[in-house]
Amino acid sequence: MSAAVMFHPPKHQIQRFVEGELSAGMSVALSAHMEFCADCRRTAGAAEAELVAQWNAKEALQSPADLTGILDAITQQPQERANTPSTPVSRKLVVDDQVISLPRVLAQIASAGLNWKTVSNGIRSAKVDLDTDTTCEFIHMQPGSKAPQHSHRGNEVMLVLDGKFSDEMGEYGASDFVIRDPAHRHQPRTETGCICFSVLDSPLVFTEGWLRLWNPIGLALFQLTRWRRRKLI
Ligand SMILES: [Zn+2]
Repeated sequence: MSAAVMFHPPKHQIQRFVEGELSAGMSVALSAHMEFCADCRRTAGAAEAELVAQWNAKEALQSPADLTGILDAITQQPQERANTPSTPVSRKLVVDDQVISLPRVLAQIASAGLNWKTVSNGIRSAKVDLDTDTTCEFIHMQPGSKAPQHSHRGNEVMLVLDGKFSDEMGEYGASDFVIRDPAHRHQPRTETGCICFSVLDSPLVFTEGWLRLWNPIGLALFQLTRWRRRKLI
């Protein structure tokens, strides 16, 4: 696996992000990473320019009457009032005594309030509800903590917001976009502590100890939560 793949979203995923094909959870993770990463912003900008060129080429084939109709529809939309005052969202996230600065997209999400829960020794998470297909959470790992060893049924993204963590494949710091899939078995751990934003599109598969007994229950709960959210939408 190349370094570019280990620390940044792959190009095909950025392409799908630009085309609006990703889930809200994955889109938020990519968008937050891009606030840190000029290289990925450039890749997204190029993909966007290509998409606009394709639209323009299609539009040029339409009749002038069609185009006039579109322009009329746009100009008849109610215009947003200029200078509407809006309350600025704080970019600060306080976890224990630590204060970190969040990417704008995550600050917006966290502004609704985060409900931290202990998930294992030294690890807490705050889930946020963004779509029906993913489980998204802020994760705080205290110094010296480690997650249970696991594999994946689907994709897991960990965007590092502060501090560092490592696994069997490397060490990751602030802004790194780490993707793991069914080919990977790993155990994230941290010496100095870290705060991440995580997106899962399928439940984890625990591969050690009594937690393996949790796998069928975890899968059933993931499916139940997804079914409930879809019913609410
Ligand atoms: Zn990047």
